[in-house]
Amino acid sequence: MKIVFATGNRGKLREAAEILGPGYQLLTPADLEITEELPETAMTLKENSIQKAEALRALCGMDCFADDTGLEVDALGGAPGAHAARFAQDVARRDGLPLPPDHDFSANIDTLLRELAKHPDAPRTARFRSVVTLLLGDRRLFFEGTLEGRIAMERSGSGGFGYDPVFIADDYPDRSVAELPEETKNAISHRGKALRAMALWLQENGYEK
Ligand code: IMP
Repeated sequence: MKIVFATGNRGKLREAAEILGPGYQLLTPADLEITEELPETAMTLKENSIQKAEALRALCGMDCFADDTGLEVDALGGAPGAHAARFAQDVARRDGLPLPPDHDFSANIDTLLRELAKHPDAPRTARFRSVVTLLLGDRRLFFEGTLEGRIAMERSGSGGFGYDPVFIADDYPDRSVAELPEETKNAISHRGKALRAMALWLQENGYEK
């Protein structure tokens, strides 16, 4: 079957293609010459993933899915949460400082380490959480995955993206996620778990091919 994934990120596309397997023709908005940026302005992961999936559905009219990921850091009361991509901006705005660009991963990590340094005695436990919204005909389905871990004191590794250099997964406690091979990260990742749950549902409900 043909299904459209609301992403422009090649890493995510590779991961989804691997998890779904050969029974699906996975397309992206770019394959359909859709160039509009999909909105992501809601307050929660679930609402954001619905917003992206519905916007894509309105543009392509096909079965499609969208993911949204957040980072919950316990010592920061669950922040940055669904605002992970613009954490540095949110904190700069709060503190009346000049705004860094949106999606500036390096500034986001610097901000996270600075904010945590204000709580030296608090545990550094954290988790990534992904929600996938699947729009299939008239149906709207949700799949979730989490990756438990903690925030390192400093960056290490050059793989992955986003907060990976400072995230230490409980499954591999001696290195950051940015030091794991891509297959290893995909096997344990929040998004991998949500996508595998979606793949299983599709197979069990006869949607393959
Ligand atoms: P998005 O929902 O994939 O756009 O991700 C939201 C934010 O979470 C962005 O700042 C990403 O960098 C970060 N993020 C998402 N997935 C991962 C991941 O697997 N590792 C590290 N950071 C991630």
